[in-house]
Amino acid sequence: MALIVQKYGGTSVGTVARIKRVAKRLAMLKDRGDDLVVVVSAMGHTTDKLLDLAHKLNPLPAERDYDMLLSTGEQVSIALLSMALHAMGYKSIALTGAQAGIQTDSTHAKATITNINTRSLRKYLKEGNIVIVAGFQGVDKENQITTLGRGGSDTTAVALAAALKADWCAILTDVDGVYTCDPRMVPEAQKLDEISYDEMLELASLGAKVLHPRSVQVAKEYGVTLHVRSSFNMKPGTLVKEVKDLENIRIVSGVACDKDAAKVTLMAVPDKPGVAATIFSALGDAAINVDMIIQNINRGQTNDITFTVDESDLDKTVDAVKKLKKTLNFKGVVTDNNTAKVSIVGAGMFSHPGTAARMFRCLGDAGVNIQMISTSEIKVSCLIERKLAAKAVKALHKEFELEQS
Ligand code: ASP
Ligand code: MG
Repeated sequence: MALIVQKYGGTSVGTVARIKRVAKRLAMLKDRGDDLVVVVSAMGHTTDKLLDLAHKLNPLPAERDYDMLLSTGEQVSIALLSMALHAMGYKSIALTGAQAGIQTDSTHAKATITNINTRSLRKYLKEGNIVIVAGFQGVDKENQITTLGRGGSDTTAVALAAALKADWCAILTDVDGVYTCDPRMVPEAQKLDEISYDEMLELASLGAKVLHPRSVQVAKEYGVTLHVRSSFNMKPGTLVKEVKDLENIRIVSGVACDKDAAKVTLMAVPDKPGVAATIFSALGDAAINVDMIIQNINRGQTNDITFTVDESDLDKTVDAVKKLKKTLNFKGVVTDNNTAKVSIVGAGMFSHPGTAARMFRCLGDAGVNIQMISTSEIKVSCLIERKLAAKAVKALHKEFELEQS
């Protein structure tokens, strides 16, 4: 008998028929004797629809109202799932984040879980209930409803698994697991049987939508094994865990592509101490996430500083840097939103010198010019022209023999 936390995403509970299927799947596990805590997202595109409604009434809703509204989506799905289980004769109880003891800080719309009081959860489990918890929500110290940021139900599930010391946490979704690359870009992409936390964190941060990056961080911190699998079949998915077996560490586990990168260059920035700090503090204050950065030293007393941001932040970025023009006295700003970032991720990279060179050679042979490069111990990213992204990803997938994973 195991204690399992399972999370079902919006697509998996998108219709009445699908909720019934989830209920049947839970009933099967319960019959096997497992203790179950189930986290669900809002049905289908409910959260987007709620946001649309909000924006029709107010382009900038108060954060408290925003959380009040968005948290209702999950409340619908927990109630319906519990009704489905009752109709099948199973004991279950639906709990909001607050009722499940999930406490957060007070940062509305992107709150962090600070503590989970597991007393009622344990009591309901002991009474034989399948415990159903609303994902993506909690309450702060003042009892105000908060939400954890879009896609936050994954984090709810992992945090509950950590607090309850569950045997594992299953994330049930609409794909079969974690792939070497997005199968829509590379049909030869393979499902991985297992992947390390660090690799998963890189892939999730690089835009692989299958897990929310924060949930991977929490899983790593508390050593929660994640099992990412489909809710539409019984195939084994991908285990996300600490991979210790050095022999089995792949050089490259996956290729990722972010098509929304935009490049900004500040030209002829005076070469003086404190200049970069001024620029990037201003961007930080405007809540703009900067990704890759390079500085070219020019002859003379100036530098060109180039960096990338999310395309959706481009206008905000230009506004913010233009405000600095007088103080810093640089020549001008050039932007380019025809770029994409392609990355290779692999835990074995650090013990295989030459992996970056192999990536660059592969891109060169494919006729893809590299505009910027950034690296971490287990990742190399290159900024390239956006219309070449698909070609680059395919070439890299082939180069690192990922179709044989
Ligand atoms: N329903 C929320 C969203 O759409 C949370 C989640 O799905 O994880 O972002
Ligand atoms: Mg969702």
